[in-house]
Amino acid sequence: MKLLMLLKKKRESFSVRSILSCLLDFCAPNKCPKCGKFVYSETNNIGWCEKCWKELPWIRPPLCKVCGRPIEGTICQGCMIDTPPFSRLRSACVYEGIIAKSVVNLKFYNKLSLVRPLASVLSQCVYSFFQNEKIDAIVPVPLHPKRLAERGFNQSVLIAKELTRGLNIPFLKNGVERVRYTVPQVKLSGKERRRNLRRAFKVPASRVDQIADRTILVVDDVVTTGTTIVEIARTLKRAGAGQVFGVTVARAL
Ligand SMILES: [Zn+2]
Ligand SMILES: [Zn+2]
Repeated sequence: MKLLMLLKKKRESFSVRSILSCLLDFCAPNKCPKCGKFVYSETNNIGWCEKCWKELPWIRPPLCKVCGRPIEGTICQGCMIDTPPFSRLRSACVYEGIIAKSVVNLKFYNKLSLVRPLASVLSQCVYSFFQNEKIDAIVPVPLHPKRLAERGFNQSVLIAKELTRGLNIPFLKNGVERVRYTVPQVKLSGKERRRNLRRAFKVPASRVDQIADRTILVVDDVVTTGTTIVEIARTLKRAGAGQVFGVTVARAL
C-alpha cells in the first residue's frame, strides 16, 4: 500500500514504467558495461571483465598535486594563482568512451546496474590517491530537491553510497544541501558557472557536528571545470571542516 502511494506520488515526475525499468535493471545479473560479458568478479574490478577494466581511460600521473589535472610538473598554473579550498581532487578516468556512455546511461536513462561498475572505478581511484588519508565522512554532491524530483534519484548519492560499502567510513547523505535551484552548469561559461553556484549550497545545522574539524571526501560523477567541487569545499570549510578532498569517476579534459 505504501509502495503504491509512493508510486502515485512520484508519477508526475518519474513514471511507473521508469521505476519498473530501474528495478529490473538493478536486479539484472552483472554484465560488463563495455563488452556485455557476464562477470562474477569479487576483486577490485567489480562489474567489469578484466580486459575492459584494464582498457579503461585511467588518469595516471603526472598530475597537478592539488586539482589532479594531468600536467607536466607538480602544480598547475590555475592552482598556483588561485588556491582551491579543497586539498586534493582526483578523478579515476577521462570522460570518454565507455565511461562517458555509462555516466550518461545511469544519469539520463536510469540504468541503475551501472552504479556498481562506476563505484568500483571510483574505489580504485580512492585506493590509488587517498589510501594514506584518514577520511571521516563521505559527502555526495547534492541535487536540488526540484531536480531530484525530476530525475527520481541522485547518481552521485548512489555511487558514493556504493563506494562506502566495505570502507567503513560514515556516509553523510545530506552533509551538504543545494539550497538554490540553478541552471545546469553545462550551459554556462567559466565565469557564469562561478556566479551561478554562489551560495548554492549549505551545510544543514543538524550536520555541522559531523563536519566540523573533520576530513571530508566529496564524491561526484563528473568534474568539468571543478566549480561545483570548489563551491562545495568552500561551503564545508565555512562550516568548519578541517580538510576537504574530492573524487570523481570521470574528468572532462
Ligand atoms: Zn568487458
Ligand atoms: Zn591544479
